[in-house]
Amino acid sequence: MWDEHRDGGLRPMDAEQLREHAHKMVDFIADYYKSIENFPVLSQVEPGYLRGILPDSAPNHPESLEDIFNDVRAKILPGVTHWQSPNFFAYYPSNSSIAGFLGEMLSAGLNIVGFSWITSPAATELEMTVLDWLAKLLKLPDDFLSAGEGGGVIQGTASEAVLVVLLAARDKILRRVGKNALEKLVVYASDQTHSALQKACQIGGIHPENCRLLKTDSSINYALSPDVLGEAIAHDISNGLIPFFLCATVGTTSSTAVDPLLLLAKIAKSNGMWFHVDAAYAGSACICPEYRHHIDGVEEADSFNMNAHKWFLTNFDCSALWVKDRNALVQSLSTNPEFLKNKASQANMVVDYKDWQIPLGRRFRSLKLWMVLRLYGIENLQCYIRNHINLAKHFEGLVAQDPRFEVVTPRIFSLVCFRLLSSQNNEDHGNKLNHDLLDVVNSMGKIFISHTVLSGKYILRFAVGAPLTEERHVTAAWKVLQEEASTLLGSL
Ligand code: PLP
Repeated sequence: MWDEHRDGGLRPMDAEQLREHAHKMVDFIADYYKSIENFPVLSQVEPGYLRGILPDSAPNHPESLEDIFNDVRAKILPGVTHWQSPNFFAYYPSNSSIAGFLGEMLSAGLNIVGFSWITSPAATELEMTVLDWLAKLLKLPDDFLSAGEGGGVIQGTASEAVLVVLLAARDKILRRVGKNALEKLVVYASDQTHSALQKACQIGGIHPENCRLLKTDSSINYALSPDVLGEAIAHDISNGLIPFFLCATVGTTSSTAVDPLLLLAKIAKSNGMWFHVDAAYAGSACICPEYRHHIDGVEEADSFNMNAHKWFLTNFDCSALWVKDRNALVQSLSTNPEFLKNKASQANMVVDYKDWQIPLGRRFRSLKLWMVLRLYGIENLQCYIRNHINLAKHFEGLVAQDPRFEVVTPRIFSLVCFRLLSSQNNEDHGNKLNHDLLDVVNSMGKIFISHTVLSGKYILRFAVGAPLTEERHVTAAWKVLQEEASTLLGSL
């Protein structure tokens, strides 16, 4: 039973109770990590499973932490998909680490709400510093650093990042061409671009028919063709429309395609468009000199985004966004209500991150990124990335050795796109075969992989990137896939 104060009141932040209970929680989490391989990676529960096993309403009286732990073990963990399992190879990784975890703890402990500089100067200034560090590590142009007109900001997700820059770009062009031109504004990206862009367009009032998702194909590995872009822009201009925003991706969600930034930037620039680069997943790899060339051309971008919460050991959520013109963001997103006025803000001496994002309130997220950079250091972080890429190469090699399978697109980072070949040389049959293989493998709970569709083909995705994954996990995963493929092929 939780202690209550002698007068019957709660003591929700008693330091000694915190120490005692937080130690138990850390033990619980450490034990979870120790036994994480015992759980089915993909939760095997049915929809609505929790409704029948939890009470209908909250308790009137305090319950014990022990009882809650018991419920977590018995009722919650079965409904958890274990993203931190070394056998998690689905989607893209969402890294946890001790450093990221400690940063989260500290952030929860301080529990500040850092919307304006004055609400916690350290939160704003640490965020500026840490994003400058990360920008330098990625060799982003100086224009993205906080010393000039630009700077970095931590958003919750890549979706919020693309939304805020789209709003900034929209308002910038409308200031130029007149606010009644909204219906003429056109956005460009490839058909491989994350659906976050489409959502940003929906929220930003861009007409759905003015969102050009340009066709890609296997001949250029699903990258956006500058020629196709140029033609689309010319066609739209001749129809009286106004191209204003280009989103390129480095490491697309389906297959890690890399759009040719330099060539695309030239087109965007010559048409007065905002150029955004989404490197949500692959940005992390670009801290290694040998992968940095994938973002060559970012010098010409107006904004750049990478998710430190994907593959950079920073617990969710932490999406780093840099812009060259912070004023553009502020002009779109700032409000100045009386109750938030203060000397530093009024004197324009400080950054108020509330004006760079959608919500007002914001967490002290920079702490965890700072902890990751300091507790691990650049060399270790580079090794971490290289290790995953080597593990993906290992998997790619295993697939290539089995003539029943093919690697579908070139592996660039730590994702392998592959499929089981149909003996009937029939696309529908091949698609069903791979769909069935995915289903059966994931339902076993030993590994979790995901899929995509490229050029009408159902493709399996094997994304390495969980912090606990070692070569033995990759080899064992491949064995599971091979065995289930044999069973499937044998039953035909
Ligand atoms: N962009 C790319 C390339 C992605 O792969 C993803 C997610 O996997 C996103 C954007 C969306 O990320 P978020 O969940 O941070 O909005």
